[in-house]
Amino acid sequence: MKHIIIIGGGVAGLGAAYKIRRAKSEGYEVEFTLFEKDNRLGGKIQTEIVPDPFEMGNFIVDGGPDCFLTEKPACHRIARLTGIFDDELPTDDSRKRTWILSRGKLHEMPDGVMMFAPTKLIPFATTGLFSWGGKIRMAMDLLIPPKKLAPGEFNDETLESFVVRRMGRECLDRLAEPLVGGIHASDPAQMSLAATFPRLLEMEQNYGSLLKAFIAVRRKVEEMRRKYPIKPGEKRRTFFTSFVNGMQQLTDSMADAAGRERMRTGVFVTSIQRISKGGWHVLLSDGSSMDGDAIIVATESWTAEPLLRPLDGAIADALAAIPTSSSATISIAFNENEVGFDLNAFGVLCPLVENRALMAATYSSTKWPGRAPKEKVLLRGFVGGPHNQEILKHSDEELVQIVLDEFRDILGLNPFAKPLFYRVFRWHLGMPQYTLGHLERVELIENRCAQIPGLALAGGSYRGVGVPNCIESGEKAVSKIFREWEIDLAEDHIEEKRYY
Ligand SMILES: Cc1cc2nc3c(=O)[nH]c(=O)nc-3n(C[C@H](O)[C@H](O)[C@H](O)COP(=O)(O)OP(=O)(O)OC[C@H]3O[C@@H](n4cnc5c(N)ncnc54)[C@H](O)[C@@H]3O)c2cc1C
Repeated sequence: MKHIIIIGGGVAGLGAAYKIRRAKSEGYEVEFTLFEKDNRLGGKIQTEIVPDPFEMGNFIVDGGPDCFLTEKPACHRIARLTGIFDDELPTDDSRKRTWILSRGKLHEMPDGVMMFAPTKLIPFATTGLFSWGGKIRMAMDLLIPPKKLAPGEFNDETLESFVVRRMGRECLDRLAEPLVGGIHASDPAQMSLAATFPRLLEMEQNYGSLLKAFIAVRRKVEEMRRKYPIKPGEKRRTFFTSFVNGMQQLTDSMADAAGRERMRTGVFVTSIQRISKGGWHVLLSDGSSMDGDAIIVATESWTAEPLLRPLDGAIADALAAIPTSSSATISIAFNENEVGFDLNAFGVLCPLVENRALMAATYSSTKWPGRAPKEKVLLRGFVGGPHNQEILKHSDEELVQIVLDEFRDILGLNPFAKPLFYRVFRWHLGMPQYTLGHLERVELIENRCAQIPGLALAGGSYRGVGVPNCIESGEKAVSKIFREWEIDLAEDHIEEKRYY
């Protein structure tokens, strides 16, 4: 029996564990042991179910991710395999509106905006979000020629330089930074497009204009929806998807399906060593140790770095060069009749140029049906990010007060609305920053790992922070080891379809 040690019980580590379990079910002689530092599994995916103080039902509070991108297949596939597909939860698009704070006032995001490109003329022309000068500059994207690339030149630039070059500074400040940078909690002046949104670079090269490219994408999506309409009884597909019991339903189902008896929580790996006869030896924080035939390091890059330093200095240096930023989410519950503002929206984005403590707010109980009992409301504030690490020095109570003040000032929350409860989730160094040079660093890590039999890395620090990307990274880590052992899984030959 071959034994793989997995370090880290986030969604990437669980993705690896579950794949090994599936291989075992196919008859392969493989087993795993997973170690997780925290007392719970799931890593950044954490849902708390809070009973309503008046026993009217439950609040479902997601502390980390509250959804995944519907078009990416990995979460759907896992949900089908583990039997929770029927619990996938689309957003309530009858109430879909996003507000953007601009010059101190809330403006509705114009209909037809894709990423940061307006694809519908009238909503764009009539929005108060941009000045006329800004709108004209954005429309100039239709005329500006694409970046000239020398033959074989690697195409990359920061989000800031790309958007300013094509659509102007106002588009960056008022739309692209909060929408695109915000997803990664990243600084647009540092963020590598090749590592985060390579499609934008391709679109410029293929269409010569982002506006033309996004109009084509919108038409394609509309056509696909016409071609494959939702069948009777089938669930609506919305841009984002979650689960009825919150995102942790996904990681819980993965842990159950992979086998919790093979997972140890509350213990961390302090060092890993290669054994001269082949295989690996890990030391654990409780003083014990374990041997394995292979090892998957599915931790954050900054915790992987000291583990890998004695093994390969170049990998460790590349890991150390991946910056991270910290953030926190603050969820606060209210009585609906007390909040005093229109709840028919998914949330508010606060661009950096507005200089607010709040980066974004989600109206969780509007966006996701069932997140709060009837006549109750759940709101979530997001703070931190690379430009405001200082805010995280505040205590939980202070953070709640800051977010309440921001809700009052920005959303129009009634100053007399009394919070029913709050939950603060802190994510210390929780967001990897894909800065320029990120892909080269990841390639170096992968190339060097390829030379070390039985070692693979996985997680959101490398090729995508999204939950589906992390699942795939865990699965790919297993595939790397299986290839070395000449294990060929049937499932690896099934092509996954994207969802529209
Ligand atoms: C606030 C926030 C909101 C987000 N929102 C979204 C969203 O809406 N949609 C989306 O798709 N993505 C979102 N993301 C990103 C996504 O949640 C993460 O990229 C993903 O969950 C990371 O999974 P992972 O398994 O790679 O890492 P983690 O979840 O960080 O898991 C790594 C685990 O390794 C453990 N560990 C570390 N060192 C050791 C050791 N030495 N021994 C044992 N265990 C160790 C850690 O305790 C941790 O549990 C969000 C992230 C944050 C922080």
